Amino acid sequence: MKTRPEFRSCFVSVLVLLLIPFAVSAQSPAKDSQGSSILGFSPASALTEHKLEATFEALPSPEKAREWHRLFTKEPHPAASEENNRLAEFLAQEWRNQGWEDVTLRRYDVLHSSPGSVSLEMVAPVHFKASLREDPYGIDADTKNPAISGAYFGYSTSGDVTAELVYAHSGNPEDYELLRKNGISVKGKIVIVRYSNPYSYRGFKALTAEREGAAGLLIYSDPAEDGYTRGKVFPDGPWGPESHIQRGAITYDYIVPGDPTTPGWASVPGANRIAPEEARSLPKILALPLSWRDAKPLLENMNGPEVPKEWRGALPITYRFTGTVKVHMNVDMDTSVKPYTVVEARIRGGELPEEWVLIGNHRDAWVYGGVDPVSGTASMLELTRSLGEMKQKGVRPRRTIIVCSWDGEEYALTGSTEWGEQFAEDLKKQLVAYVNVDSSVSGAATTAGPEGLSFKPTAVASLAPMLVEASKDVRAPSGKSLYEAWRATSVRDKKLAGPPADSALVETRIGSGSDHTVFLNHLGRPVINLGFTGNYGVYHSAYDDHFWMSRIGDPTFEYHTALTKIWGLTALRLANADILPFDFAANAAALREFLGELERREKLAPEQVPLKKLYERIAGFEAAGKQLREATMRDLASGNVSQEKIQHLNEQLLQVESNWLDPAGIPGRPWFQHLLYSSRYTYAHLEFPGLTEAVESANWNLAAEQANLLETALEKNTELLRSAKSAWEKKE
Ligand SMILES: [Zn+2]
Repeated sequence: MKTRPEFRSCFVSVLVLLLIPFAVSAQSPAKDSQGSSILGFSPASALTEHKLEATFEALPSPEKAREWHRLFTKEPHPAASEENNRLAEFLAQEWRNQGWEDVTLRRYDVLHSSPGSVSLEMVAPVHFKASLREDPYGIDADTKNPAISGAYFGYSTSGDVTAELVYAHSGNPEDYELLRKNGISVKGKIVIVRYSNPYSYRGFKALTAEREGAAGLLIYSDPAEDGYTRGKVFPDGPWGPESHIQRGAITYDYIVPGDPTTPGWASVPGANRIAPEEARSLPKILALPLSWRDAKPLLENMNGPEVPKEWRGALPITYRFTGTVKVHMNVDMDTSVKPYTVVEARIRGGELPEEWVLIGNHRDAWVYGGVDPVSGTASMLELTRSLGEMKQKGVRPRRTIIVCSWDGEEYALTGSTEWGEQFAEDLKKQLVAYVNVDSSVSGAATTAGPEGLSFKPTAVASLAPMLVEASKDVRAPSGKSLYEAWRATSVRDKKLAGPPADSALVETRIGSGSDHTVFLNHLGRPVINLGFTGNYGVYHSAYDDHFWMSRIGDPTFEYHTALTKIWGLTALRLANADILPFDFAANAAALREFLGELERREKLAPEQVPLKKLYERIAGFEAAGKQLREATMRDLASGNVSQEKIQHLNEQLLQVESNWLDPAGIPGRPWFQHLLYSSRYTYAHLEFPGLTEAVESANWNLAAEQANLLETALEKNTELLRSAKSAWEKKE
């Protein structure tokens, strides 16, 4: 990664000449801000960047996004299916056509899980056979496709069980506590639970049922969560109709994601693998998802004690704990090794080809994936088409931009995890950041009201300021800047009295459940997740299709391209910045907030775990971050710094993020090595994971040890920032 300053100046002037014709026609807010600064850019570089961005923002086309969307939602394409593999080849060819370089198909041999025969019936007190299917609708021909699967869960065990049914609300540990208080055991029984709001990952419900000794688990979609209680249902509105089924995997990938039989290493062909019985992420319980139409007869035939008010759903029945209902579950899963394909391509950087900015989206879908993930795929293809077009005209980014189409995300974040594990050593040194988009539009613009869909990104705190800044230069479909639209929907969604501070816009608490996980939690690389959200009740069902998106979700496809633009600006700024736009003072401020939250939530007393020193270390890190930022930004603004100096600084900035890794991992989950970020078993965000889990289990010795690890990492990074500052200030 050697700098070539002579190349840079020539590159910049060619660029300026090239871009003048485009800058005039560009209809983006960037036009108004061409004189303004950009975090990490010298005034001259910022000028070039603004022009380049204006060119870029004129390229994405909603009509093209619609076409991509239709192409990728023609047939169901779960991981390992023929259609999903065909789409991999198609995507590779498109990327070649778009001008991307080094297009490669990476193959991983993965322990996969797909349904054979599956059935569910009630055998007492009356007979009822669940359809386990979704109804077709005349208005949407795709719902009639015989290739649509029935109900199943990835990585359910196979088996045949007949047992009494117990209703366990959301299937969380506290729900089983309440059952116990009512004298009800679920041992050897079949438990029926609801998908829950707020979201809790179904794989945690499976582990909880398994730990409780249940013989089987049924998870159904109660209309209170995602059906008629919320509003109009498909095909008239965004919510789930009576027969919609939320498929999904129940993998315990919060313990270790990826191929369950290669925990921590890549499933390249011929790789060693452990026996499935030894895999910590494989469930040992039989499980099925149900529509509420299939669940209702089971629930309404119960005759035991009534549940408390909080446990009632929205069905017109009396919800009961237990009583006379016996069900027969038969699940036959094919669990065998299948190839997955990650498609990879790049535009090699013109100046710093060994520094990488990664963008990505998964390809596999439970059925058509209209929202999840094809909205993201359509946004991505408009991004790669636009960047490809610029490259064809000679406009290369300074750093290399790599794009990946992941496979098997829905099963265990598998493709990204295997790829991350395969290239771990390079990624740790060379990856500046990963910008992930799973669903780009998971909400119905037609029901979003005047402020529109909510922009809901998450990012590591060090990159939050650059994301906010970039949002000012993108136009939202409402006509406002994305920044203004974001503030307005934040006020609406959080019922605030006024717009939040910029520092409160980005959610810096990051859970799991998508492809950023390996990069952040295992490799210690900074990540950003982007997407618009709103009303959406057909998640992982057959109704999550092109009809839903083009009639209900984003009929103009303008949200798709708005997302393309913010994604592109984020990637381009990371790829072109002089000084990498990490803000460690902002990072420290977020850490102080996380620690305060833990303290308040757990009512921590100093004699349990002293946190004074940790607060001091955070303050030291904040001061060092602030001083470095001021010194470097001042000099950069003067436009008088050598490339060598900048390069040395960037290497140190990249090192800061790596220093949050503890190679031993967090207690009990060694794959998760980040000291600041992990996720709970529910996929919910979890900050200071080692410390927090120790505190929550009242293990005070472990808590003190974990606090100590954090202090050491903070100290190391404070030192690093201080030495970066003194190196920066040294006369050349
Ligand atoms: Zn997804």
